[in-house]
Amino acid sequence: MPSIEFKDVEYSYVDNNESFLALENINLEIAQGEFVCLVGHSGCGKSTMLNLLAGLAKPTKGQVSIDGKPIAGPAPDRSIVFQSYSLFPWQTALQNVVFALRKTHKEISKEDAKAKALELLKQVGVNDAANRFPFQLSGGMRQRVAIARALAIDAPIMLLDEPFGALDPMIRRKLQALLMDLWANSCCKTAVFVTHDIDEALILADRIVFMEPRHIIRVFELPKNRAHTIEAIYDDPQMRALKDEVLALFEATAQGEEDE
Ligand code: ADP
Ligand code: MG
Repeated sequence: MPSIEFKDVEYSYVDNNESFLALENINLEIAQGEFVCLVGHSGCGKSTMLNLLAGLAKPTKGQVSIDGKPIAGPAPDRSIVFQSYSLFPWQTALQNVVFALRKTHKEISKEDAKAKALELLKQVGVNDAANRFPFQLSGGMRQRVAIARALAIDAPIMLLDEPFGALDPMIRRKLQALLMDLWANSCCKTAVFVTHDIDEALILADRIVFMEPRHIIRVFELPKNRAHTIEAIYDDPQMRALKDEVLALFEATAQGEEDE
């Protein structure tokens, strides 16, 4: 049974009695343990897909389900990492992670939560900054803490909406590598990762789901057991050919792009 299923999904935003069709005819199955990247130009409906999965919005038609059960709302089986503003500004890095741990693991003691949070911050490389507030952290550090917090929830499904979008390319590569390391060491978590960076999708994904406004137009399978690095895209002829194909589609769909 697929872990996640979009079945004939349609979604319209309604503002001031005006309705805007953002998704139409969406059918997609994501198996447990898969890392899926949603790719497409700005405005094609990627974040809307993620919001439906997060349970922050309900489909206007059709159904989004997890293990056969329609999604009723946000729940601790899904953690979310957004591009920005995802940490509580009034809590330190450590407090942010402790809060997530205690909220989702009611039985954990204060001391154990703190120890576990420090361990997670160490895993993402920001344990030195545990006692700093978000405004005292760089963008890259903030996103590391956001990842630590998402890991603290230890949800089987991780939803990430352009989490590295605001970071410079070097830091972005580092965090992609970190995410792939975490993935390799965490059994069977499912990820849905939104990006409009083709290289990022080619590094991370098991499958790339390519969207144009409102629709999924193609799904690319990526080779298994490859190195999840930018070098692998350049060194491997199969990956180079895939990149050319995805890029061609990206260029072909540029017409329909809307400004954010
Ligand atoms: P993406 O994440 O791919 O950039 P979104 O899912 O955010 O795209 O948006 C899909 C479409 O829905 C866009 O045309 C966007 O303008 C529109 N949209 C998003 N949020 C709203 C909203 N609250 N009200 C009306 N239209 C919206
Ligand atoms: Mg978006």
